[in-house]
Amino acid sequence: MSDQQSCATHDQNHAVKHNIVAIRHRLEQALHRAGRPTGSAALLAVSKTRPAAILREAFEAGQRLFGENYLQEALEKQQALKDLEDIEWHYIGALQSNKTRDVAEHFSWVHTVDREKIARRLSEARPASLGPLNVCLQVNISGERSKSGVTPEALPALAEQVLALPGLRLRGLMSIPAISDDPEQQRIPHAALRELFEQLVRRYPQAPLDTLSMGMSSDMEAAIDEGATLVRPGTAIFGSRD
Ligand SMILES: *Cc1c(COP(=O)(O)O)cnc(C)c1O
Repeated sequence: MSDQQSCATHDQNHAVKHNIVAIRHRLEQALHRAGRPTGSAALLAVSKTRPAAILREAFEAGQRLFGENYLQEALEKQQALKDLEDIEWHYIGALQSNKTRDVAEHFSWVHTVDREKIARRLSEARPASLGPLNVCLQVNISGERSKSGVTPEALPALAEQVLALPGLRLRGLMSIPAISDDPEQQRIPHAALRELFEQLVRRYPQAPLDTLSMGMSSDMEAAIDEGATLVRPGTAIFGSRD
């Protein structure tokens, strides 16, 4: 590696640590403004496309939860970072049947369960020694924009099926709403997801439902205003992905 390269890497690492501190502050400010307790929402650092060394820097700055979208890339980074004992891996990418075994074996959480077949395969593939896999159901909350995600209408039936699977622990809901740069517009899909979550909690008071996974770099505040318990910033921590 040339001096120039190592210097660039150093600056980038320094930026990540700085950004972790800044985003924690941003999150606490948002919670405070929303009248919510400190620490009532967690930060999932979305690290797709970032090299393992950068994740390690974030870990050294205190970050523990990492979200990955691409299975092969994630497995390679997990291998490179296996010395980090309390790192927690969340799978937030598209799920096909041929990925369920690796996801069930190598992640603590999956945020993108949106159909029964995938849920059943994840449950069957989950090693008993790891305990149930934590899952959020992905809801297609803005309708047309994304094809993944269960519709709000089909959500109750899917929740019922997932609750019956021994290898899964249903923790809550997740969404990727249509993009808007207007904070008031941003709140609408987040409020809709919260509503669906509250209905689920009323319907299944015994279920371990405690997670609303919503809000990314540009709509974190709106998500916190609407009750997000897990926000998923990527670019705000690691820079743009181009
Ligand atoms: C990429 C991604 C994010 C992070 O988005 P940013 O705009 O970089 O903050 C969050 N959630 C999911 C599901 C993603 O795919």
